[in-house]
Amino acid sequence: MNERTAAVLEHVSDEETLELARALVRIPSPTGKEGRQIAEFMHGWLADNGLNAGMQEIQSDRINVWARVDGAKPGKRILFNGHMDTKPFDDMVIDPLGAEVRDGKLWGRGACDMKSAVAGAMIATRAVARAGIPLAGSMIFGSEVGEEGGGWRLVDLVDGPAQCDAVVCCEPTDMQLHLGARGGFPIIVTVKGLATHTGTAYKGINAIQKMSKVITAMYELPCWQVDDPVWGRSPINSMEIHGGGKVTASVPDECVTTFDIRLNPNLPPEKLQADIDGLFERLRKEDPQLDVSYKFRSFGGGTGISFTGGRPASDMPPDHPLIQATADAAEDVMGTRPKLQGFPGGCSMGVLRRRDGTEGVIFGPGNLEQAHSVDEWIEVDQIGKAAKVYAALAVRLLASNP
Ligand SMILES: [Zn+2]
Repeated sequence: MNERTAAVLEHVSDEETLELARALVRIPSPTGKEGRQIAEFMHGWLADNGLNAGMQEIQSDRINVWARVDGAKPGKRILFNGHMDTKPFDDMVIDPLGAEVRDGKLWGRGACDMKSAVAGAMIATRAVARAGIPLAGSMIFGSEVGEEGGGWRLVDLVDGPAQCDAVVCCEPTDMQLHLGARGGFPIIVTVKGLATHTGTAYKGINAIQKMSKVITAMYELPCWQVDDPVWGRSPINSMEIHGGGKVTASVPDECVTTFDIRLNPNLPPEKLQADIDGLFERLRKEDPQLDVSYKFRSFGGGTGISFTGGRPASDMPPDHPLIQATADAAEDVMGTRPKLQGFPGGCSMGVLRRRDGTEGVIFGPGNLEQAHSVDEWIEVDQIGKAAKVYAALAVRLLASNP
């Protein structure tokens, strides 16, 4: 660890980072209904701590928050990003707002995804300001509403007060380094049948029965078996199904299945599209009664980032300076280098990189398996460490040579 890293880490306390994370968990901010309280609390904390901070109103009760530390010299603008919204509280088996600390864990909605990381980034931003190390460029903290609903209101921040050249996405990676985010191939498959009375079912075409063949064949495509040392396998999930039920004692004439498919970098959307087109063609040949088609499900919330169609994974080369600096900062704090992996879902890093090639990395406390869960928690030990890694990373990237 060099002198400057040591200097900035003096301004990060594990206890204070945990208490800030707990304060954030106690304020409800379910996606779409974030409310003013969470934003006003975050902005108040940043401003009271002497940081240049502001709020960006998306709607009157949905507000993005930012803060920045600008160096005297020009240089890269690095955005440390974490969303302030959470999944809803329904069905949780713990007090979602309790922020209880028990068994070395912090419990509550947003503890893992991702208020602990947000607290870490806030503490790190203040640490960089307090350490007074000469900087070239800017450390920017930006927290948005509407991420969990797929609205990507982050785009409003980066087109406004948080313009950046690189993004450190603080989503939960269990303190490992994720090189990028998966792409997606969200499709809705429709099978048409022919309705008849159940008594003469053999004269109809049962859309549900035909769909079961289609789903089985989709899962048997060889592309799901291709393993990648960093990313694992590309997952397919038949997420939702509807069919029949229009009238009783009748053969269903339609069945619709929504597939949530995520793409590793080695499975481009064009390749999968060709695979599925080829598969459906073969199935139709084998069964002339099969009437199957698909269309893309559209995404986004009218923020200029909505799209229809397949989208490729967005990743960074492992030897990129931003990736190496993140690994170095993590090693400064944890003593070991993080593993290089791929983020299993979508996140801000993928959105910005796909949009205009913004450099990015994903690193954060908490395991994605506990995100969105009915008893969401995070290991307390990771919370303060993440704050330290963010502070160390900012200094590595921005400290200016005298
Ligand atoms: Zn998240």
